Amino acid sequence: MKEIILCKFGEIALKGLNKSTFESVLVKNVRRRLKKLGEFDYHRAQSTLYVYPLDEDIDMDEVMDALKHVFGIVKLCRALEVAKTMDSVLNDTMDYLADALNGVKTFKVEAKRADKQFPVKSPEICAELGGKILEHFPHLTVDVRQPDVTVTVEIREKYAFVNALREDGAGGLPIGTSGRGMLLLSGGIDSPVAGYMMAKRGVQIQAIHFEAPPYTSERARLKVEKLAEEIALYCGDIAFHCVPFTDIQVAIRDNCPEELFTIIMRRLMMEIAQRICDIENCSCLITGESMGQVASQTMGAIVCTDAACRMPVFRPCIGLDKSEIVTTARNIGTFDTSILPYEDCCTVFTPKHPKTRPTLEDVEKGQSRFDFEPMIKEAIEKRSFRLIRCGESTVEL
Ligand code: ATP
Ligand code: MG
Repeated sequence: MKEIILCKFGEIALKGLNKSTFESVLVKNVRRRLKKLGEFDYHRAQSTLYVYPLDEDIDMDEVMDALKHVFGIVKLCRALEVAKTMDSVLNDTMDYLADALNGVKTFKVEAKRADKQFPVKSPEICAELGGKILEHFPHLTVDVRQPDVTVTVEIREKYAFVNALREDGAGGLPIGTSGRGMLLLSGGIDSPVAGYMMAKRGVQIQAIHFEAPPYTSERARLKVEKLAEEIALYCGDIAFHCVPFTDIQVAIRDNCPEELFTIIMRRLMMEIAQRICDIENCSCLITGESMGQVASQTMGAIVCTDAACRMPVFRPCIGLDKSEIVTTARNIGTFDTSILPYEDCCTVFTPKHPKTRPTLEDVEKGQSRFDFEPMIKEAIEKRSFRLIRCGESTVEL
């Protein structure tokens, strides 16, 4: 008898003819995620992935934790594999269920027969196992409507599985089923959340960060790398590009109208990001902008920024309040890093009175006062690269 983990697929169960492609990607992602934790066998049936540990000493808590970060899984539970007989279902499971039934008041039993040849029908399985549980744990009563715990019996091809504790998975779609995108990652609260949200919809994320040494410090960059490491727990490995941006910022300051500084800077960030997208085969940009949050995130400013973009720009935080973004940041574990007080290049040379309603004409005219092309090329050439590996944490702040 041993314990396995059942992972229930979410939305991908609805994908019709593409379902098997989505499922294969999910299984590949799970395999990659669990590789470090031991040897496993995998079996896929009826929108469920069965994960069988092959070594005795695998830490199942660690496996559960890793699986909870894999997009595409909505529910997961540990289950006991027992012989496919009623005797085994009734008598070999009581110790195992004790953990889940400890401290609860009500329960119900659900049975699923994938093997319709099994001689006992589902309602009888429920009645028999329910009776056994009542006898063994006299403090419990049955509540079929709103039980504290639902004990599930699944009768499969070779074995039966009994489980009681279900936990929520990360939801979403498997990473890699929605193409690749370039996340503009700052050290703030919003952009890590934006990356997480797009990854949740199946986008494979790369990250680009602009730094302005000596105005921004090495530690400021390390903070951003740490954020990338934190979201990599969900997003998988992240190619991290760091672009030196000081010369461009100085050139904007010295040559362009002060009140347009931020917007021109953002257009140049987008330009560089999309050129790196071309090199890296990414087809969209992702930012942490939220409507109206600051001067550069008004409708007018966004129109001017997007006029410099030839690829779609996704802003998944656009309709969220700051407090909602903070809640997600806390949930995914980036908040504490985000609020560390290091400077960002955006806060260097910021104008005292940025234009909240710039016209595109003014912005284009202002930007054309200087030929940024050679600097753009140079910044791209001088970018540094690091592969952030999922589950690796190297940055100490
Ligand atoms: P965040 O909390 O993500 O830093 P913010 O509210 O501070 O966002 P801005 O500073 O205006 O807003 O930045 C808007 C977006 O531009 C960020 O969400 C991020 O996607 C991108 N961005 C800002 N600074 C940088 C940077 N130094 N490198 C890469 N992207 C950046
Ligand atoms: Mg910021």
